[in-house]
Amino acid sequence: MSIEENVKMIKNTIEEKVTLIAVSKTKPVEEIKKVYDIGIKDFGENKVQELVDKYDKLPKDIKWHLIGHLQRNKVKYIVGKVDLIQSLDSVRLLQEIEKQYSIKDEIAKVLIQINIGREESKTGILLDDLGELLEQCESCNNVKVKGLMAIIPKGTEESCKCYFMKMKNIFEDLKKKSFKNIQMDILSMGMSSDYLMALQEGSNMVRVGQGIFGKRNYNI
Ligand SMILES: *Cc1c(COP(=O)(O)O)cnc(C)c1O
Repeated sequence: MSIEENVKMIKNTIEEKVTLIAVSKTKPVEEIKKVYDIGIKDFGENKVQELVDKYDKLPKDIKWHLIGHLQRNKVKYIVGKVDLIQSLDSVRLLQEIEKQYSIKDEIAKVLIQINIGREESKTGILLDDLGELLEQCESCNNVKVKGLMAIIPKGTEESCKCYFMKMKNIFEDLKKKSFKNIQMDILSMGMSSDYLMALQEGSNMVRVGQGIFGKRNYNI
């Protein structure tokens, strides 16, 4: 199937209120432009350098989502360029975002990434540390938390479903509470292989890469 057909197919299977992020990491700007031309405005990248390069070459009404681990020394490069940082996962990173965004008098919109499977190989904050991070977010002036993001562990359908449900529960719990600077609007979960299940379990933002662009080649 072509990129256009892939996008149409996915769009047909998701509700209007769900945001589809086209994950364009490793893909050239020409292909991103194709997806943009059919009306997709949200794109996800996992590396700061790649995101900034593409930002410079593509239309300015694209909303860029940083979905990969963000190193503190790179925060300064994304201020004003990223619509949503989906990978806030530590107090130290929060402090750097607050610092760099206040220097430029900008507001950072962020999602807290939760390492819901407690996988050592993955980034994201552990649930045990979430309380402290939320507390620190309350004292920020230039950071607004918009929701949660997770990459769930690979596994059976049953286990995937269970992780999605866990995330949805945390999301709903936090939604009931009122914290300064924190609003639980976005639950970002689901990728090419499991976005339909994620939607069933309450996701309202899916991040689809290979399902739109085809397989990634990391050797080029
Ligand atoms: C690469 C990536 C995706 C997309 O994965 P696909 O399997 O290509 O859909 C989604 N989320 C994150 C955080 C990613 O790094």
